[in-house]
Amino acid sequence: MDNPFKYSDDNKRYHTFNYYLRHHYGKKVYKVPLDAHFSCPNRDGTCGYGGCIFCSSRGSGEFTASNILDIIKQFETNRQMMEAKWPNSLAIPYFQAYSNTYGPLEKIKQCVEPFIGYPDVCAIAIATRPDCLDDEKIAYLNSLTKYLDIYIELGLQSSNDDTAKLINRGHDFACLQNCVKKLNSTSLKTVIHIINGLPNETIDDMMKTINDVNELSIFGIKIHMLHISKDTVLANMYRRQPWDIMDLGEYVDIVIKQLEHLSANIVIERLTGDPIKDELIAPRWVLNKTQVLNEIDKKMAHLDTYQGKAINN
Ligand code: SF4
Repeated sequence: MDNPFKYSDDNKRYHTFNYYLRHHYGKKVYKVPLDAHFSCPNRDGTCGYGGCIFCSSRGSGEFTASNILDIIKQFETNRQMMEAKWPNSLAIPYFQAYSNTYGPLEKIKQCVEPFIGYPDVCAIAIATRPDCLDDEKIAYLNSLTKYLDIYIELGLQSSNDDTAKLINRGHDFACLQNCVKKLNSTSLKTVIHIINGLPNETIDDMMKTINDVNELSIFGIKIHMLHISKDTVLANMYRRQPWDIMDLGEYVDIVIKQLEHLSANIVIERLTGDPIKDELIAPRWVLNKTQVLNEIDKKMAHLDTYQGKAINN
């Protein structure tokens, strides 16, 4: 069956990040995860204690070479491995661990400015929280977009404020909406992270989140399945009172439904996460990323559906 989706060079029926990068930069591009040793206001007591219930002690920076303090050395260490796999590619330094705009503007400058004009770096990605982006920081980061693209990644997880309280996110949906509104008035590119399978969430909640995100006019989205990993608050909750966790088939179904309701021009940066095998409690099926992505592709082809189909987009 022919693929009717317009932003695809292959069998994908959604707007992959790989497709965007190849068309936008004309080459293979990879992200290099970094830990610049920021903290998070949701962990140090500024807006909350303990952090989001699923967050590991490394603040989601599991794949960084965090023991190397010099940011360029850290970047080069990880980049060498990627360059061996994809020679002659471009790189995006990805400030991944914790909240990378939480702290003085001077520290942010020291982290990002070494990458301006750096060989074969086409953009910078910064993971942070909407309550860590004041007007001064947004204006500064936007001023850098005359040199290279800047992607700002914000963890929403769910637009349901009851869920936000349950997962101890430390801000409400309105906070994220306001931040995205400001970012949309700049040249910064916003990427939102959401999680399917959060405790107490129904399919309707997950669809509401995708519809709310679709309204935000963002650049991209990362969709994850909830990982229950050792040494997290979530793991303790699950041990005390386990709940039903989505199986692979249910996850594939909800992701396809979400893609159908998402504007075709929104770039899909991820449909699976990268848990650490030895730390993952459940669900174990997320470890087989290829299988998850193949099942999504197969079922989308079988249903002859594609991103944006439900909204005629
Ligand atoms: S905002 Fe990010 S770093 Fe902070 S607690 Fe939540 S997941 Fe962890």
